Amino acid sequence: THLPFYAEGTVVSGFGRGSKELGIPTANFPEDVVKKLPENFKCGVYYGLAKISSNENVFKMTMSVGWNPYYHNTVKTMETHIMHEFESDFYGDHLKIIVLGYIRDMLNFKSLEDLIKAIQADISESNTKLDESELLKYREDPFFFTSP
Ligand code: ADP
Ligand code: MG
Repeated sequence: THLPFYAEGTVVSGFGRGSKELGIPTANFPEDVVKKLPENFKCGVYYGLAKISSNENVFKMTMSVGWNPYYHNTVKTMETHIMHEFESDFYGDHLKIIVLGYIRDMLNFKSLEDLIKAIQADISESNTKLDESELLKYREDPFFFTSP
C-alpha cells in the first residue's frame, strides 16, 4: 500500500458543498497536490494527522479522496476534516497531512441524515485508531516541524 502517505499544500476553497453547514468542514487541497497522489491510490475515507501553519499543534484528521462531480468526475479531491474546533477559517494556510490508515470506500447515501451518521462514525473510528501505540510516533514526525 501507499501508507503512510505524506502530502502538503495551500488550503483552497472547495465547492461549497455545505460541509461546514453540516458541522463537518473539510479543508481542500489544490489540484496540483491531488495530482501527486499515486495513480492507484484508492478513493475512500482515511484517517491520519494534520497540521496547519497558523497553529503549532498536530491534530487528528479524517480525509476523503474522491472524484469531483463538478469536473465530471475527471478530477480527484482530497478533503481533510481536522478534529479540532478552530476559532476561525484558515484558507491560505499551509496544510501538512500524514495519511495513516484506510476506513472505507466512498458510498452513495440515501439521505443527508445517513451521510452525516456515516461521517460521524468515520470520525469516531479515526479517533480510536489514531490512539494506537504504533501510530503515536507520527505526532512528532519532523515533517510537521519543518517549514513551510
Ligand atoms: P469549502 O467548500 O471551501 O472547502 P467547507 O464548508 O468544507 O468549505 O469549509 C472548509 C474550511 O473551513 C477550511 O478551508 C478551513 O478554512 C475551515 N475550517 C474550520 N475548521 C475546520 C476543521 N476543523 N477542519 C477543516 N477545515 C476547517
Ligand atoms: Mg471543503
